[in-house]
Amino acid sequence: MIDKDKIESMLLGQDFGDYKWISPKDIIVSHWVRVKCTFGCSEYGLGTCPPNTPPVDECREFFNEYDSGLIIRLNRYADRDSYPSDWSRDMTKRLLALEREIFLSGHQKVFLLNQTCCSLCKDCSGTRSACRDKKNSRPSPESFAVDVYQTVRNAGMAIDVVSENPAEMNRIALLLIE
Ligand code: SF4
Repeated sequence: MIDKDKIESMLLGQDFGDYKWISPKDIIVSHWVRVKCTFGCSEYGLGTCPPNTPPVDECREFFNEYDSGLIIRLNRYADRDSYPSDWSRDMTKRLLALEREIFLSGHQKVFLLNQTCCSLCKDCSGTRSACRDKKNSRPSPESFAVDVYQTVRNAGMAIDVVSENPAEMNRIALLLIE
């Protein structure tokens, strides 16, 4: 049984105030997301991205193994040509700290899908086995074939394609808990 009040106080402790509880069974997993990872994404082949992630059908089964989840939305006004890397690293650090705190409170299955492709190292090894920080590297929702736009909208949160630059952008993390 999840004590949502307790976990929400952990969220606020890391300064995450924009979130929604969801059932992981409602996460939309789609083949088109994997195709767009494979063709057209410059991050393809990084250590936490396809082809280093499970097949789409296994991703679906993985989400079905959880009772509860959180969408955590991060907002930042940014220029895509000078991405705020320090801010992103800080967000990742806090999300990992939150995952750890929830784990230590008795939820051994907790797992973070991070708000970005892993960028802990300047030069990614490109494989899981040669990863330089196995303990802290986490996949993004997209690398697990999550249709982030539809999943977030179905949860009642706003998210749109960012058509201007610079502009307010959203980064989405998922936290699976049981
Ligand atoms: S920790 Fe480093 S080597 Fe491992 S996936 Fe992340 S960037 Fe790549």
